[in-house]
Amino acid sequence: MPEKERLIEVKNPGDGSVLAIVPRGDKEEIDLAVKAAKKAFLSNEWKTFNPFSRGKLLYQAAEIIRENKEELAKLETLDVGKPLAQSAVDVEIAARYFEYYAGVADKILGETIPVEPGIIDYTVREPIGIVGHIIPWNYPLQIAARSIAVSIATGNATVLKPAEDTPLTTLKLVELMEPLGLPKGILNVVTGYGYEAGAALSSHPDINHITFTGSVETGKRVMESAAQNVVPVTLELGGKSPNIVFADCHEEQALEWVLKSIVQNAGQTCSAGSRLVIEKSIKEAFVDKLAALMEKLSIGPGIDNHDLGPVLSKKQFERIQSFINLAKQDGIRIATGGERESVEGCESGYFLQPTILDNVPASHHLAQEEIFGPVLTVTTFETEEEAIEIANGTPYGLVAGVWTENGSRAHRVASQLQCGQVFINHYGAGGGIAQPFGGYKKSGFGREKGLEALRNYTQVKNVAVKF
Ligand code: NAD
Repeated sequence: MPEKERLIEVKNPGDGSVLAIVPRGDKEEIDLAVKAAKKAFLSNEWKTFNPFSRGKLLYQAAEIIRENKEELAKLETLDVGKPLAQSAVDVEIAARYFEYYAGVADKILGETIPVEPGIIDYTVREPIGIVGHIIPWNYPLQIAARSIAVSIATGNATVLKPAEDTPLTTLKLVELMEPLGLPKGILNVVTGYGYEAGAALSSHPDINHITFTGSVETGKRVMESAAQNVVPVTLELGGKSPNIVFADCHEEQALEWVLKSIVQNAGQTCSAGSRLVIEKSIKEAFVDKLAALMEKLSIGPGIDNHDLGPVLSKKQFERIQSFINLAKQDGIRIATGGERESVEGCESGYFLQPTILDNVPASHHLAQEEIFGPVLTVTTFETEEEAIEIANGTPYGLVAGVWTENGSRAHRVASQLQCGQVFINHYGAGGGIAQPFGGYKKSGFGREKGLEALRNYTQVKNVAVKF
């Protein structure tokens, strides 16, 4: 391929300008990275890099992230479009992933198992080997950090493939970590398109585990490739997460979090609260108040720290608009929003008004499919059973919010929800570093974050000793 075509332009979604040009890695670069990772993983240098040293290095990485927090936040905002304040939170969360797994590195324990007299039986949790991480574009720094931190804590070698639209903070993070003294080849990053570098990584025969975050369609492809090599995968896919609001909720709190959960990162969050499932008796007043709050939000470039930045790209913008057009075509009431926002000086930016689609039947495409933008659907219920049925009635099952002051009801509903995480009277759990995160149904399987993630990155060896 001519040299010119082996590059990718990384664009600022706020104004369409070119931010950087990165290599368009493909099969060849992935192969080099996997070879480097394999060599490093098998080296004595890494084998003797003990758990305490790995932990210490991860603490140092957290420090370096905090020392460079302004630059990292700015880079994330320019690359993804999200408001600077949200990028600052992402940077802090990234640092905390490193601290969390730093503390875990020397506490990955085995068990002894009573079998019979004369035998000592024990288990050892060993690293799984070469881990491939395919990173999405919506939270690149956070997701790269959680991938790298847990992978190093558990003693693996890593190959990361950031999304082609947003590779900058992953590259910066790896660069910042360089002076920490990881053996060469333990941490690798290859930029490139999904269908080239991503596909090459997920089908590489020397990869021992794949962690993928992104769309269901790509997730299926990654899983197919992994199946050819009999390699385990962790899939963190999309969601259509409900906020279930009962009439006995604390209205002010519910309003605050229903709003935040759909406008954060312009709704481009896998766990966005993209469906409001609300008791009929309070719906009208609640939606009016929510619409009024949305209309007060400022929309503009993330770097100026508006409440809402642009969506990622032309492709995402058009995709979201096609959902809004479908609403218009099907006569669905748009309680607020529904249009492109023109922002002075940023005519090429992909700004969308936060939008409420009212009275959407639970089975309608708009209430079933992930829109991945600042678009909330509203569906009403009259009984608790109906609320649960609607909440569970999509192919997804990532998270859910439950809003009620009735404690028994809160737990009763939580126990019946088919999703990986339930928030009662809040939403988001402060970044959720320590809590397991992942989906039921088509939202994927396997868990990232917390101690649960250790299962993905280790394999258990059982040893039986006769004496
Ligand atoms: P995607 O699934 O295509 O991309 C995610 C990552 O996978 C990127 O790094 C991409 O380069 C890589 N990829 C793409 N094709 C690949 C392949 N064949 N093999 C291996 N890797 C591949 O997602 P997208 O097109 O960027 O976004 C489309 C939709 O995906 C969004 O609208 C949203 O619904 C969903 N999404 C979800 C999340 C999430 O956090 N769960 C994140 C991003 C996108």
